[in-house]
Amino acid sequence: MKGTSAHRPISREFVDEIKRRHPIAEVAALFTWLARAGTHLVGLCPLHEETIPSFYIFRETRSWYCYGCQRGGDVIDLVRHRLDLPFDEALRWLDQCPEIAPLPGAASAASAHGGVDPARALAARWSAAGQGALATALSVYTQALWETPAAHRYLVRRGITQEVTVRCHLGYCSGDRLIEALRQRGIPLQIAWEVGLLVGTARSPRERFAGRIVIPEVRGGAIAWMTGRLVEVEEVLLPAGPKYMSLPGARVLGGATSLAGRTAVLVVEGAFDWLTLVKWDLPGCYLGGGGLPEEATRMLDAARTVYVAFDQDAAGQRMAQVLARHLADRARFVDLPAGVKDVADLARCNDGLDRFRCCVREATRHPPALATS
Ligand SMILES: [Zn+2]
Repeated sequence: MKGTSAHRPISREFVDEIKRRHPIAEVAALFTWLARAGTHLVGLCPLHEETIPSFYIFRETRSWYCYGCQRGGDVIDLVRHRLDLPFDEALRWLDQCPEIAPLPGAASAASAHGGVDPARALAARWSAAGQGALATALSVYTQALWETPAAHRYLVRRGITQEVTVRCHLGYCSGDRLIEALRQRGIPLQIAWEVGLLVGTARSPRERFAGRIVIPEVRGGAIAWMTGRLVEVEEVLLPAGPKYMSLPGARVLGGATSLAGRTAVLVVEGAFDWLTLVKWDLPGCYLGGGGLPEEATRMLDAARTVYVAFDQDAAGQRMAQVLARHLADRARFVDLPAGVKDVADLARCNDGLDRFRCCVREATRHPPALATS
């Protein structure tokens, strides 16, 4: 179906098909950052210079309108105006458009991977060129973190200290620095694309982690993984998207290097739970969302006791059941104090570590019963 327009007359059906295949929000996201505004999306207009967003996307009517330059229309109009093309060429541009990464949260298998083939992404991640791109990204992100007060304040609010920030190589992706840095180091954008650092189209690449705190998994100098957490600050125009985003390709066990040589270790759910363990100097790892990473069971093999401290919700409980099957009698399940959602919650309390230690002492051999309601 794709790229067939050269041989197709422009019919009503063809126009409808193009509109269906290219949702307005995803195409607009190639040209500008979008934030949620109620049921709509809003961003800086890609058609005129402005500092206050007046460009709106109305997904339900598949249309857009800019209150600044007072232009609007459907997805084809947007491409027409943005790229200064006549109608038929805008139509063909969309038809030939390489894979567009659907906006995160859209119901599509590709959305988890930003349009990148996961197996290929994994191979690229471990190639010398891929590691070069990842190392470049990490140095750009760690630098940007120190220069972005909002990102800094976010970490402080979550109880993450400067020492943890440095130890875990935390960074911040401002969304506008990586491409230039790659160019300066002579690393082809294609590599960053294959690794998954860039999304969008070849014509208008965007940074995957834009607006996010970046938590890398660094193993012996190599970068095995990156995950990003959206920074929620009012003064920053946020890109639309889910709280967490990660590189495409097989997930790894986060924080796994701290497990080596330990007989008792902790497993937590999210990246910030793990950062809390690092702050407390406790050996542990995190699974991240989306199930048990393949390497998890192997890496937990050496530990005689594995303390599982997951979120106190249904998803956390389901995850605990999965781990219970893998670990059998080596597992101990930690019940967090009443009113505490997850381990990261305790990072903000002065007595967080003491309270957590109490819970670990009380840990049982049985996973929590699955809530049925
Ligand atoms: Zn405008």
